Amino acid sequence: MARVLFINGGSEGHVNPTIGVVQELIKRGEEVVYFTIEDFRERMEKTGATVKTFDVQTFINAFISGGRNNFLERINGLLHTADIMIPSVLEQIKGEKFDYIIHDSMFGCGRLLARLLQLPAISSCTSFAQMKTSFDEMLLHLSKHIPAETYTEYQRLAAKAEERYGVEIHSPYEVFCNPAPLTIVYTSRDFQPLGKEFDQTYKFVGPSISKRLTSGDFDFTEIKGKKIIYISLGTVFNQAMDFYKMCFDAFKNTDYTVVMSIGEKTRTSDLEEIPGNFIVKNYVPQIELLKYSKLFITHGGMNSVHEGLYYGVPLIVIPQSADQPVIAGQVANTGTGIQLQMESLSEKQLREAAEHVLIQISYHKAAAKMKESLRKAGGYRQAVDEIFEFKSQYDIKK
Ligand code: UDP
Repeated sequence: MARVLFINGGSEGHVNPTIGVVQELIKRGEEVVYFTIEDFRERMEKTGATVKTFDVQTFINAFISGGRNNFLERINGLLHTADIMIPSVLEQIKGEKFDYIIHDSMFGCGRLLARLLQLPAISSCTSFAQMKTSFDEMLLHLSKHIPAETYTEYQRLAAKAEERYGVEIHSPYEVFCNPAPLTIVYTSRDFQPLGKEFDQTYKFVGPSISKRLTSGDFDFTEIKGKKIIYISLGTVFNQAMDFYKMCFDAFKNTDYTVVMSIGEKTRTSDLEEIPGNFIVKNYVPQIELLKYSKLFITHGGMNSVHEGLYYGVPLIVIPQSADQPVIAGQVANTGTGIQLQMESLSEKQLREAAEHVLIQISYHKAAAKMKESLRKAGGYRQAVDEIFEFKSQYDIKK
């Protein structure tokens, strides 16, 4: 049995894919200490992990303090979070010994912690993986819009972190992507852009879909035998009252039953009249629901898109932010759905797009093919096989 330090951020998208992995690690005898925010304590404790938390608000404030005007400012924000994460982790694991670390590829300063603690490291990548060459090209391309002061600030923050934690930082890529000798990516090589170009240190294990351990209050008898369209903008960028009302207008006179998850920040009472063929909730058991859905209208979060395709459901992707435009592009490239733009979206366009995707067999075929590819990748069991293979290479105790 080895002791694993798992460092994660505090969002559904980064935490959910790791649930199955942690459960499986524990099932195979590992002891896992898992860092996240208080909101995910219950979910992660149910896996059998020991959960330790950091303060979400302090973390977000630090991240935002880097600025939000350009990509490098976000990287600076991640450097700011080092001073929240690292002291908090070190304080809470004082006197404990670990055999290896698994860290999120983005949040939690995993690479710094791995170096500081001198632990063999595995990166947990819940979005598409990024090679250094393409990352550097992207940053170069964006550099026209990045003021010199932001670069100066990056250098200052990186130098400060190097001095404080005694770990070298060679590039913004290291801060943003937290590279490690093994990266577990929760997609398949077929769905990953340029998938074939990644070397063998990247293991594409597919989405890690596991039974959610939190209970929901969704009544599945209400949708039995119905044709379901499922709509969700995820858990972060989901305050979109106009969009929700547009969905009402687009689908109220159809023979579809529309399940719409509006997120915790919007009240159902603010939506005024909800059409009879709609079920509107703040949160739904998405994975279970997708098994019954004919079409998924999504913001293009990595998890949502994977979960949809894992059940062979074609997609309409309306990207909001972050990596979603890239993911939406990949949905279009693979023929598993289409992409729409929120800014110019109309009720008519939405309804016609839905009819198009529902009727065109090519979307259903491509989604079914991707379903096979994602399932064949092996999921959380394959992830843990790869982790154990890594352990044997690093001579980490059984
Ligand atoms: N989710 C859910 N019920 C909801 C809304 C979201 O279970 O009503 C889950 C969904 O299954 C997915 C995650 O929340 O695992 C959302 O992650 P994603 O990467 O799609 O988007 P984000 O919320 O990070 O923008």
